Amino acid sequence: VADAFLAPAQLQRSAVRVQQRRNVAAPMMALPIDCKGKVAFVSGMADPNGYGWAITKALAEAGATIIVGVWPPMLKIFEMNLKNGKFDDDMRLPDGSMMKIEKVYAQDAVFDTPEDVPADIASNKRYAGLDGFTISEVAAKVKADYGTIDILVHSIANGPEVTKPLLEVSRAGYLAASSASAYSMVSLVQRFGPFMNPGGSVISLSYFAAEKTIPGYGGGMSSAKAQLESDTRTLAFEAGRKYGIRVNTLSAGPLKSRAATAISAKGQKAFIDFAIDYSKARARARVSAPLSPPRGLSLPRPQYLTAGVLSRPQANAPMAQDLYNNDVGAAACFLLSPLARAITGVTLYVDNGLHSIGMAVDSSSMTESPVVEQFAPQVELH
Ligand code: NAD
Repeated sequence: VADAFLAPAQLQRSAVRVQQRRNVAAPMMALPIDCKGKVAFVSGMADPNGYGWAITKALAEAGATIIVGVWPPMLKIFEMNLKNGKFDDDMRLPDGSMMKIEKVYAQDAVFDTPEDVPADIASNKRYAGLDGFTISEVAAKVKADYGTIDILVHSIANGPEVTKPLLEVSRAGYLAASSASAYSMVSLVQRFGPFMNPGGSVISLSYFAAEKTIPGYGGGMSSAKAQLESDTRTLAFEAGRKYGIRVNTLSAGPLKSRAATAISAKGQKAFIDFAIDYSKARARARVSAPLSPPRGLSLPRPQYLTAGVLSRPQANAPMAQDLYNNDVGAAACFLLSPLARAITGVTLYVDNGLHSIGMAVDSSSMTESPVVEQFAPQVELH
């Protein structure tokens, strides 16, 4: 409506609206990610090198109560390292306190109910003696212990034939990748959704191989990630309507985690090293600039580094900087917090923008291209 047709009061309101549209509201001192009073169940963290750990740490920093699901084969070593202080450096929060993991549940995400557990697993020494590690049993225990939860994190991937190209993958290998890495998410939402508080939030971790071919990421894992992203949208609708919760996935860049390192044939350079090198290739820094820590997280960067996180510049990516697991931790924490209350069904890239590049500047075909020189990284970021 043209201003000439508005009464003075309306004019004033219209000016406010214009101001709001221009984003010039009064400056805020701080925008906290506040998860105090919320219970977060993180499934798939076993050591400080992975994304699950960084997400857990960010949630702890935001004040959430942390409970975790740990894969039985990792349980003993995880609990031992927690007890003997091996994780202490990686558990320290910015205020000097230690991240508290209130309860650890043994959980195997390929089994939904006790009837699904085959005899050889039930009698396996890593499982024998564990009580109720299937998804439905763990959900029942969490419900009995906490009543309701607010945050659910799926940080699980497993593909027994991940080193094989799709052309060679067996049916069993393909379905196992899908079961552990994609259906596990569906099952978690099925079983935990009914006792999540409205306004609660779920995330999983995806990878760009879901949508573009990443040679070397085999075993049907690319298919599993495509399922995960598609299921994110469908679950966002169904669980949004049914339980009032949000479901998103983060498409994370390459990180040298335990799971990623396993994608290698004996004695050969691991897939993840190629993926990281591809991202950082041709970095030619000319000017050094000091770096501030990730926004919203208050420690100086060195204290954020957890063991195993690589520090290499990335230059096929738009942002020629290192990718840290806490970059994903911070983004995940935002998505899981009430700040993101209107965001659901999305795949959020946390990869320094690598997904947006359609032509690799480090390709030998680009050697003579003036663009490569023109857009060589000018600022050294770490
Ligand atoms: P990670 O090893 O820290 O995490 C994988 C976890 O899955 C481990 O804790 C493992 O114990 C657990 N797990 C495996 N099988 C399980 C099962 N049957 N039941 C329960 N838990 C099981 O490695 P990560 O790379 O941080 O992986 C976390 C998520 O991030 C995965 O979904 C992975 O695909 C995704 N991701 C990783 C990268 C990367 O470069 N590392 C990139 C994009 C996405």
